[in-house]
Amino acid sequence: MPLPAKPKKLIIAIDGPAGAGKSTVAKLLALQMKFLYIDTGAMYRALTLKAIRKGINFSQGRQLTGLAKKTRIDLENKPDGTIRVLLDREDVSLDIRKPNISKFVSDTAKVPGVRKEMLMRQRELGSKVSCVLDGRDIGTAVFPDADKKFFLDADLKERVRRRHKELKENGQDVSLEDVQKDLCNRDTIDSSRKCAPLKQAKDAIYIDTTKMTIEGTVKVLLEHIKLSTQRGAV
Ligand code: C5P
Repeated sequence: MPLPAKPKKLIIAIDGPAGAGKSTVAKLLALQMKFLYIDTGAMYRALTLKAIRKGINFSQGRQLTGLAKKTRIDLENKPDGTIRVLLDREDVSLDIRKPNISKFVSDTAKVPGVRKEMLMRQRELGSKVSCVLDGRDIGTAVFPDADKKFFLDADLKERVRRRHKELKENGQDVSLEDVQKDLCNRDTIDSSRKCAPLKQAKDAIYIDTTKMTIEGTVKVLLEHIKLSTQRGAV
């Protein structure tokens, strides 16, 4: 008797600007599909934290690349869908969300040597099991052959409102103005850098989430994935 067909390993890529709801949506999608969730932004954030602790100047690309090569970063999926980020085995899940990390993370992420190292690790992580990855270059550089690609966007005002709410809920006292400055600064650096800039992959589905709820967005993504699976397109 023939063996039952093995379910295909799927890769779902979610890209978009800061505060578009990518990580919340990606986390829920991964939880519902029982896929691994890979928060690629957390990797750049963890490295930025280490660079700050070591007093590395963010204009020193070679030093940042060297640091990236010898830094261990682990992302653990917890049963409730949240993740734990370990920097050289230390839990830095909360520290990496602080404003001083957000301020410098795009400077770390624009260094080609850093990106090369992270891309290799992200491909390795995604090579084993079905997963949902969110970031800026997943559909364009990390997994250009991803089974399904989404580009999530929202109006700046709405992105600022969401990020502000999220930070407040995590006990961080920041003003709307500062949140807006941070998002705009990162989007500018992320989309203008030479190496793997933030941009929509040609075959990504663009979704404007400005007027959508998180649950509604997850539902739309699930429908697209289901449709492609039924059509045998993935
Ligand atoms: O996703 P998150 O906002 O936590 O990402 C933080 C930063 O990490 C981004 O602003 C960007 O500079 C960088 N990043 C990146 N490529 C990715 C994911 C994140 O350059 N795939």
